[in-house]
Amino acid sequence: MTGTCAGGTMQDWPLLVWKLIDHAARNHGQREVVSLTCEGGENRSTWASVRRRARQVAAGLRAMGIGTGDRVATLAWNTHRHVESWYGISGMGAVAHTINPRLFEDQIVYIANHAEDRVLFFDLTFVKLVEKLAPRFETIERYVLLTDRAHMPEDSALDLICYEEWIAGQPDDMPWAELDENAPAGLCYTSGTTGNPKGVQYSHRSNVLHAMAACMTDTFGVGARSVVMPIAPMYHANAWSIPYTTAACGAKLVMAGPHFDAPTLQRMIVKEKVDLALAVPTIWLGMLQHLEKTGGNLGHLTRTGIGGSAVPRAMIEAYDKLYNVRVIQLWGMTEMSPLGTIGMPTPEVAALPYEQELDYRVKQGRAVFGVEMKIVDEAGRELPRDGKAFGRLMVRGPWIVGSYFKGDGGQILDSEGWFDTGDVATLDPLGYMQIVDRSKDVIKSGGEWISSIDLENVAVGCPGVAEAAVIGVPHPKWDERPLLVIVRKEGVDVTADDIRAYLSDKIAKWWMPDAIEFVDEIPHTATGKIQKVALRQQFAGYRLPTAEVAAG
Ligand code: ADP
Repeated sequence: MTGTCAGGTMQDWPLLVWKLIDHAARNHGQREVVSLTCEGGENRSTWASVRRRARQVAAGLRAMGIGTGDRVATLAWNTHRHVESWYGISGMGAVAHTINPRLFEDQIVYIANHAEDRVLFFDLTFVKLVEKLAPRFETIERYVLLTDRAHMPEDSALDLICYEEWIAGQPDDMPWAELDENAPAGLCYTSGTTGNPKGVQYSHRSNVLHAMAACMTDTFGVGARSVVMPIAPMYHANAWSIPYTTAACGAKLVMAGPHFDAPTLQRMIVKEKVDLALAVPTIWLGMLQHLEKTGGNLGHLTRTGIGGSAVPRAMIEAYDKLYNVRVIQLWGMTEMSPLGTIGMPTPEVAALPYEQELDYRVKQGRAVFGVEMKIVDEAGRELPRDGKAFGRLMVRGPWIVGSYFKGDGGQILDSEGWFDTGDVATLDPLGYMQIVDRSKDVIKSGGEWISSIDLENVAVGCPGVAEAAVIGVPHPKWDERPLLVIVRKEGVDVTADDIRAYLSDKIAKWWMPDAIEFVDEIPHTATGKIQKVALRQQFAGYRLPTAEVAAG
């Protein structure tokens, strides 16, 4: 035996996104795809229908002269038409560029021009916005309104194409594009809290591998009997890949269109028997308040996937104890397609008493196969995986960005191919990663670091507190000290002293915020996270009471 290969090979079957929808249509063709629409109704479709109509989109784009690698943008909510457009665009070889409508207008213009989008698909919600921005879009040639004839605006400055009419006139048998699996399939810009947004271009291969990994039992654990509702929008890191993942495993897909209010989401979860729904913590906080007020329940929901920002312990407990819904925390980023870690318990963790299990569930989770992680110090030296040492979190893997679109930001990987996430984290011996903070949000107090995330998560557990945010404020002696900003629950008069008393036995003494301020609203980013930059601006020049003492 020499161990050399005697010519045997495996098939070269490129990992192309359209293979997901072909599989879904062929093997799960009757499974439903249900969405609330922008016209105010509900649409009940199937994977077979999504594929057929996606092929019509593909043929329509080809007839328009769209070619391989061209960018076709979408400004749209989670609906069947958006999913069809996605598969149609990438299936004919173009790149589906999801634009986040919650960005500032200037950023939307910047992104569309930078991506050189040739066509824009958009929802009725955005007609006014698109009409206003169109003169500033430099490369968009055609505007496709995702609606039917009855809902087309009567007079528009733009030469609008009616989606339903347009696809109705297209053949549904044009073959999908035969591409290299590394060809681009999608494009998504990061929110760009500093500087211009940067584009992350997903490949067919990265999307397919990510979708397969996302189905695994200890990832989303979904299959043909699952009913999955991505509340995370398709423009927020591909709705966490759910439109791909559900096609890969043949799950029923449920989408709430333009609706993000708790009453609508709850109604849909109950009515469609959703068992897994995914969204950022803000959405789930709103849901808790709604359920508390109305005494409602979540029907068949057994799990929520929550990520995008840290999940407070109190939220995990509330869903467990009041609604028998298991919160599964996940961490990722646009640059990671987005999945990095997920908090499904290991046998060791599952066997722990509840409170100790919670200590693990507040962590961001363990690496999904396909993601390598390490933490390093300022000099780039790897730190121990002991759950205590914290440092910059570095990642590597087949669905993690290699370079930004058009090379923005230059070389972003180190010499060994690691990408710096901008997060500061610990890794423990069981493989759980815990985010300490974003490196730019951590509060640097007297040479030590205070995690704004930890403080927020404890504070939000205080009765009467609806939302909490912590920022570092300059301090003459300590460099920075924490300021805690609170939104009270409606009709509850919680005071700063109440909050201090609540925090006192839950945090280290030197972590106690130097000041607590009450506001009506905390600013959120376009992806529903606390907008630290805006909050820091709001409190620019703020004088901490302790600063007076130190200065005096
Ligand atoms: P945007 O800032 O555009 O919303 P991303 O969704 O890519 O972009 O944000 C990724 C960042 O969100 C991560 O680097 C991390 O800081 C934060 N994040 C995501 N999930 C979690 C989580 N479960 N806990 C704490 N932070 C998280």
